[in-house]
Amino acid sequence: MNAPLNISMPSEASGAPKSYRLLIDGKQVEAVDGRSLERRSPGHGFVVSRYAQANEKDVDLAVQAAHKAFESGPWPRMKAGERANVLLKAADLIEARLEEIARLDALESGKPIAQARGEIGGAVDIWRYAASLARTLSGDSYANLGDAMLGVVLREPVGVVSIITPWNFPFLIVSQKLPFALAAGCTAVVKPSEMTSASTFLLGDVLLEAGVPAGVVNIVAGLGADVGAAMVAHPSVEMVSFTGSTRVGKLTMASAANSLKKVSMELGGKNGQIVFPDGDLEAAADAAVFGGFFNAGECCNAGSRLIVHQDIASDFLAAVRKLTAKVRVGDPLDDGTKVGAMISTDHLAKVSGYVSAAKGEGGEVLAGGGARASNAGQYLDPTIVSGVTEGMAIAREEVFGPVLSVLSFKTIEEALRIANNTPYGLSAGVWSRDIDTCMTVARGVRTGTVWVNTFMDGYPELPFGGYKQSGLGRELGRRAVEDYTEEKTIQFHRGQRTGWWVG
Ligand code: NAD
Repeated sequence: MNAPLNISMPSEASGAPKSYRLLIDGKQVEAVDGRSLERRSPGHGFVVSRYAQANEKDVDLAVQAAHKAFESGPWPRMKAGERANVLLKAADLIEARLEEIARLDALESGKPIAQARGEIGGAVDIWRYAASLARTLSGDSYANLGDAMLGVVLREPVGVVSIITPWNFPFLIVSQKLPFALAAGCTAVVKPSEMTSASTFLLGDVLLEAGVPAGVVNIVAGLGADVGAAMVAHPSVEMVSFTGSTRVGKLTMASAANSLKKVSMELGGKNGQIVFPDGDLEAAADAAVFGGFFNAGECCNAGSRLIVHQDIASDFLAAVRKLTAKVRVGDPLDDGTKVGAMISTDHLAKVSGYVSAAKGEGGEVLAGGGARASNAGQYLDPTIVSGVTEGMAIAREEVFGPVLSVLSFKTIEEALRIANNTPYGLSAGVWSRDIDTCMTVARGVRTGTVWVNTFMDGYPELPFGGYKQSGLGRELGRRAVEDYTEEKTIQFHRGQRTGWWVG
């Protein structure tokens, strides 16, 4: 039994919560019906933020502003180089406010502050990368269609984009979408999660300061079922870029289908790390602990399944347990914390429910297993469940908490079958020094990303997204701006038209 946590209250706890208003047409406004939402810090328990709570009327105003900015404003019409300069300025301003943004994300989501700093630094890099893509976006030309014909294929911005994001990486995920939409010349309505909206509102201020014209980026906070749903259904929205659960992703796609909007979906994951006896087992054990418990397991890419060869399972698990015991759980604002608070008490109960169910089905809890007592906030100890079999819910469903399920295998074919035996297909990892083994796994898993002898690295240059029910489309990578464009084919004919129809 681990000692209860003694969480100290940060300075924010003694003042009034920070207030945020909606950003519509370049102005900060209250919600039409005057309602507001409160967010409690999950690590400390006090009310940290209050946001104006939008409904479908506010969404309509935000979409109208974005539509006007798209139809008649300067943003889609300016040179891409000018848009790139604004994005670069935004990146500089984000960098200058990195500490402030990281603190907001840590306070609202419960993630460790040191990790949050890394995420905001990563976001700065993405904004800069998007600026570079703005300038290199191009279409095609066809001069090989005969002397009289020139074919030109343009990339035009798709229009108003609804961007809907989850709570687990509040600033990073909006940064995987918005700069690319802006680079293409689109305008946007953005809805952060109702639990972690503060850093997205701060981004709104940054963008206005960087020179993004009024109406180009509009930000609405509120509940998914009314605000998110209205952003998807609105007839003036041309594209929906959604990151969140597979359940809501399906609802969103079904609604977007009514008006045939373009959709991009980044959804859940149930990712496996496969460990072979010839791998660097020390590094693999660290990666197993990192994969399972990073961001308290509230991570689409979490390596929530450890699939380990039976010959090394016992020794390897002993190493993983030893490292797990050293993982520091505690105050998100403490620099040394590795695992912070869980996003909500409901979510903590859901995650604990998976562990209890696994115990009932024969799983053995080797570490953690329950809520960690604390004077404030809600915490869960890193948990390892061994003896997991493929049919168990904990092996197939996205637990989204600091819970590592351990399965074992005898042959590479069995390892691949286990890894692929889930409706998800986001990512996977393999640990081996044998190139054939690595290649067989890398080619055999049905996932959008495979890490070979490393885990959960990310670069703006590399596309990211899921196979199967983990999503649709890819973010990042050199084609990321193209996602926010339509192709237009123009055929230029020289001289008199040939091949008349009637004659
Ligand atoms: P969620 O699906 O509950 O919510 C995501 C967003 O959708 C929130 O802003 C929410 O308010 C909104 N929403 C809810 N109902 C809606 C509706 N009916 N119509 C439109 N919008 C609606 O997800 P969450 O709990 O915030 O986030 C966790 C999930 O996100 C996990 O499943 C995780 O795997 C996934 N995720 C995926 C990636 C990825 O890149 N693949 C990254 C991060 C998180």
